[in-house]
Amino acid sequence: MSHDASHEKLSTRAITAGRPDDKVENGINHSISLNSTFGAGSSIAYGRTGNQTWSATESAIGALEGGSTLLFSSGMAAITAALSILKPGARVVASHEGYSGVMTLLKQHHASGRFIVNFLDISQTDQVMSALKDADLLWIESPTNPCLDVAELPELIAAAKARDILVMVDNTFATALTQRPLTLGADVVMNSVTKFLSGHSDVLMGSLSTENPEILQKLEDARQLLGSIAGPFEAWLALRGIRTFPLRFHKACENALELAHRLSTHPKVARVRYPGLPTDSQHERAKKFMKTFGAVLSFEIVGSPADADRLCDSSSIISHATSLGGVESLWERRRRWPSESPSVPENLIRLSVGCEDVDDLWTDIQGALAAI
Ligand SMILES: *Cc1c(COP(=O)(O)O)cnc(C)c1O
Repeated sequence: MSHDASHEKLSTRAITAGRPDDKVENGINHSISLNSTFGAGSSIAYGRTGNQTWSATESAIGALEGGSTLLFSSGMAAITAALSILKPGARVVASHEGYSGVMTLLKQHHASGRFIVNFLDISQTDQVMSALKDADLLWIESPTNPCLDVAELPELIAAAKARDILVMVDNTFATALTQRPLTLGADVVMNSVTKFLSGHSDVLMGSLSTENPEILQKLEDARQLLGSIAGPFEAWLALRGIRTFPLRFHKACENALELAHRLSTHPKVARVRYPGLPTDSQHERAKKFMKTFGAVLSFEIVGSPADADRLCDSSSIISHATSLGGVESLWERRRRWPSESPSVPENLIRLSVGCEDVDDLWTDIQGALAAI
């Protein structure tokens, strides 16, 4: 009998889901299934259509997001598959600021005529509402990268669904522990499993979750034909990470809130962006429906972009590196990337807060701020 996690808390589901049914014969964990083919008559048949290790990881993410889940070789592979189910010429409403890979991809699709993308400020609910009038897809990333603007998720999803518009949500920054868009009516939730779910900066992976069987079939066909499949070893590593994801995430969120408070009183910090900070422009909205405020914060320094780069090079615990969601804290000046949105301030530093001791992190940050 397969494990029914539906009544369990998410922190329990992260541990119980995706285990072998028969623990006596198979052990507590699924093994890493290294098979490109299966005997005639098997349910999987070929390694591009399925894999037992993927299935285990998929059931764990599905138990967290509340839908059937498909793994992909990266977050971008998942997004590519999700967008592939749209008709050519589809009208897409999306934020003008967000994860840079997604921004670049949508801009390319817009330029080539594959889609007509209406880029807007996703935190301006009225703007989004009026753009929905003739849309086929609402793509929401919230909080946004890297300025941590918050979209009015419940209202936007409800309005889009009332018009029969497809809604896809990038839940990477928030995670299922903060918000569960499928329960609000979204059609597809995407996660860069690379980040908080895996949590150790050692694997790239993406996922799509949905409760709609027709969409699931289309996404599964897309994965099979695009060939954007996850490696079994990576899937196993991701599942191992998911076991401690709630523990890590809660600690990291706690650290992020504390550091946001401390940074906001520092004379060399001009502005802190973190939806959990009571003074943040997004706080009132965020606290209505977000269960946590996440573990990523951004701040602008009093100083030049070169000062910001120097600051990122002056820490010893926090690594100067891109990405987010690992146990180890990372920071970088986002505009060092030419692909970053020009609306992001040049001296803005994004900090992915990890699980280190918060006082040690603060000492490290203070030292780096003293170096500029
Ligand atoms: C990292 C990230 C992605 C892309 O995921 P990859 O696993 O790097 O391909 C998409 N959206 C957000 C918000 C991300 O942080």
